[in-house]
Amino acid sequence: MLEYKVKDLNLVHTWTIARSSSNVKHNVFTRITKNGITGIGEAAPNARYNETTESTIDVIEKAKPLIEKFDLWNFVDLGYEIQNLCEEQTAAKCSIDLAIMDWVAKSLHVPLYKYYGLDKSKAPITSFSIGIDTPDVMQQKIREADEYPVLKIKLGKDNDEEIMTAVRAVTDKVLRIDANEGWTNKEDALEKIKWLEKMNVEFVEQPMPSHMLDETRWLRERANIPIIADEAVKSAADIPKLAEAYDGINIKLMKSGGIQEAMRMIWMARSLGMKIMLGCMVESSCAISAAAHITPLADYADLDGNLLISNDPFSSVKVVKGKMILPDKTGLGLEGEF
Ligand code: MG
Repeated sequence: MLEYKVKDLNLVHTWTIARSSSNVKHNVFTRITKNGITGIGEAAPNARYNETTESTIDVIEKAKPLIEKFDLWNFVDLGYEIQNLCEEQTAAKCSIDLAIMDWVAKSLHVPLYKYYGLDKSKAPITSFSIGIDTPDVMQQKIREADEYPVLKIKLGKDNDEEIMTAVRAVTDKVLRIDANEGWTNKEDALEKIKWLEKMNVEFVEQPMPSHMLDETRWLRERANIPIIADEAVKSAADIPKLAEAYDGINIKLMKSGGIQEAMRMIWMARSLGMKIMLGCMVESSCAISAAAHITPLADYADLDGNLLISNDPFSSVKVVKGKMILPDKTGLGLEGEF
């Protein structure tokens, strides 16, 4: 049986990145029950990828007959069937895939990371994101983020210098920069990166629009810090063409359509010598924990979506001084209801 519910997740601070701003997110939670075991998943629909609550529900409705018909133990074939239900709409597909994989690991009585044979002590620290705001508020957010050793700063609007000056006035922590496709001229982007290289910046995420692959390759040849693809990559099929333009990829379950495709992406990117980052949208502990279970395979984690909301319906992975502590309960290890 497949059920779903829309829940409003409230942001602690208004969340602003280069292209949008919001105070509340409407995520869609999915529950699959078979043989007395319930798996839970989550979709965080994203306007950047033409997703809405309605389009997400449409796909979940379409998946209902598949869930009824399939033996959930054939979850690989079932996963492909769900990916093939329609083009895109990966947040909806993710919600279903997470519920299936939660069910599988619960049925086997193991936490998901054990199912994948991973060493939980290798889970990296997660960065904590500081959304775009006035310099005063950004400084306040940085003070509130005292316990996190690595911060992710969103740039890409027209006041990058003002922001970085304000940030560096209050912290000397390692910074990761995400321009969210905000720099559209390669010479300007290079100048920004050269300037950032002198400011203890670990890497720059998606400096230029995803379609500007040649310009990004040009940039990478001249930059001394890694350039990571985010908006340019959704699934494994996107990766080969990115290998010369980017040093690594930011995998998000909401873009891949779930854990099964995220695992294929990890193997594909590794085979091309690329770095792996696991990132997120604004998500509850449900989807964040799902990603956390596979972070022992990642170089970088940016799984703070649940830390940005004030009414998380679940708890699971814990973050202590930035380090992710994976749960030992079965499946995703969720406690809570939706
Ligand atoms: Mg990003």
